[in-house]
Amino acid sequence: MSIEANILSLKTELDPLKVKLVAVSKTKPNEDILQAYQAGQRIFGENTVQELVKKQEELPKDIEWHLVGHLQSNKVKYIAPFISLIHAVDSLKLLAEVNKQAQKNNRIINCLLQIHIADEDTKFGLDFDEAIELLRSSEYQQMQHIRIVGLMGIATNTENQKKITEEFYELRTLFKGLKASFFQNSDDFSELSMGMSSDYKLAIEQGSTMVRLGSNIFGERNYPNKTGI
Ligand SMILES: *Cc1c(COP(=O)(O)O)cnc(C)c1O
Repeated sequence: MSIEANILSLKTELDPLKVKLVAVSKTKPNEDILQAYQAGQRIFGENTVQELVKKQEELPKDIEWHLVGHLQSNKVKYIAPFISLIHAVDSLKLLAEVNKQAQKNNRIINCLLQIHIADEDTKFGLDFDEAIELLRSSEYQQMQHIRIVGLMGIATNTENQKKITEEFYELRTLFKGLKASFFQNSDDFSELSMGMSSDYKLAIEQGSTMVRLGSNIFGERNYPNKTGI
């Protein structure tokens, strides 16, 4: 199927469920992104700052860019002027830098906390108690230029559907707990970014509001690592 057809069929599947589609275009050329754009897709995700900045300069300005990969503090300044959602905030230090750069750009930057749910210890993310600690900290509470709008997680790369389902279930449970404890008076905390090409249906069953799909839209990438991390 063509990229356009893939987008249209995913929209048909996801729109009725109110699940947002982030088209993960990492390693793919601008022509591929424009095909998805012509099919109506406006949210695109990249996993490196370098590729994100280059594509943002070259492509239509109404694209909503998300950074889905790991972010180093020293690179925040390059994306702060335009980024619409950072999916993988995994420390207070990084959040403080996002806050600082957002302030310089006179804006508020939406962020998700990345939570570590997979077995692999190579994957980034906060543990449950670290997430709670971050939200409790007075440093976070004083930040005026970031908005934490939800959580993101990457499940273990396995064929074991039961295991993946359990990991997503745990993330959903944490999400509900944090919402009740820290965001009672606000609707801001509403996004659960979970699900990639191989597991998005399981993620949606467990309450995902935002799926990050690359190969299902653009075809396989030319390198073997699933997440590109
Ligand atoms: C690459 C990537 C995706 C998309 O992966 P696919 O398996 O191609 O759908 C999703 N999330 C993150 C964080 C990624 O790096």
